[in-house]
Amino acid sequence: MALVSWIDSANISQDFPLENLPFGVFRAGRRARIGVAVGDRILDLCAAFEDDLIAEDSCTRETLNELMARGPEALRALRTRLTEILSEGSPDRHRAVKHLLSRQNAEMLLPVTIGDYTDFYASLHHATNVGSMLRPDNPLLPNYKHVPIGYHGRASSVVISGTSVRRPWGQLRDDASKPPTFAPSRRLDYELELGAFIGRGNAQGSAIPIGEAQDHLFGFCLVNDWSARDIQTWEYQPLGPFLAKSFATSISPWVVTAEALAPFRVEPAARAEGDPEPLPYLAGGDAYDITLEVYIKTAKMSGPVRVSRGNFRDMYWTVAQLLTHHASNGCNLRPGDLIASGTVSGTEKDARGCLLERTWRGTEPLELPSGETRAFLEDGDEVILRGYCVREGATRIGFGECRGTVTAAAS
Ligand code: CA
Repeated sequence: MALVSWIDSANISQDFPLENLPFGVFRAGRRARIGVAVGDRILDLCAAFEDDLIAEDSCTRETLNELMARGPEALRALRTRLTEILSEGSPDRHRAVKHLLSRQNAEMLLPVTIGDYTDFYASLHHATNVGSMLRPDNPLLPNYKHVPIGYHGRASSVVISGTSVRRPWGQLRDDASKPPTFAPSRRLDYELELGAFIGRGNAQGSAIPIGEAQDHLFGFCLVNDWSARDIQTWEYQPLGPFLAKSFATSISPWVVTAEALAPFRVEPAARAEGDPEPLPYLAGGDAYDITLEVYIKTAKMSGPVRVSRGNFRDMYWTVAQLLTHHASNGCNLRPGDLIASGTVSGTEKDARGCLLERTWRGTEPLELPSGETRAFLEDGDEVILRGYCVREGATRIGFGECRGTVTAAAS
């Protein structure tokens, strides 16, 4: 039974009905304030606290870190109270209405101070596709089905949706018979990913048992891991991605809580016959049924066109497995750390989550409605990620968008 709000737009919202209540941070005058999205409105939680509507004082800060650290019980209590306030018939309506603003006019900010950012490689389809371009005879390395593969990303260059992304310079070596050159990347790509924000952390030296991983997960956002393929190809051995990735990573502004996503948790797909079972410390965790899409809009196009659609349930490793593996050596995860999934790709061609795969290294360029073609991104191209969850018997919820436009390299 769908929840009904006195905010009419919440009752018809594709992404932000009362069941969702994602958290974000918006600018109000000279300061940042925490809010929840509901329909086409934002409820200002700092004002709601000051008006004694809610009791959670971490909502008066300028980032979500402190709220994230409070753990799942406090978050559940806050969401229950917010649902009460915003539901049809609430006695608090006349006070709460004063603390609403239009989502359309709000300037959204990075919601979290991200201390550490880790990027995984959890899609078997993505790993197999990329591997087969590099090593046609041996696409998947022998460790893949045993250990979740990841690398430490760069937190300082994570930017909020809407921030433009400057084409990076780097060392390129397209022709193996010639020395490398230093030039703007010619093979700029996006990667469609989901990001998990850590809630309660773990002490250094202690692990997160897989049965407790869910309690350390605050929520999710959309992630675009911008990637310069030509820089990457030359630099990635032997230590993995470095400057090919660290120039920018875009995230969507609204953090959808793990609690709101609970109706969309599903059994992970069974491993294929012959695949190893996960080691006991990694046995467990649910998959999430989340549809994820990529749109492109070039400077010549009047509107965006969808270029891929995949689903997060197709990942080989669950989010719980990623968190548990990350902390298994005693590494401390802290509230607000961002753990990205890796590119989300499926078995179908139109479910491939980056241009490298979608155009098969540029050999099968996309044909756009404007008559243009794209092997990789050009200056002026905007990439838009969208995500949403649909299930019979549950109210649809969504993530909104993660946008970024490519601008010319510095001269
Ligand atoms: Ca990635």
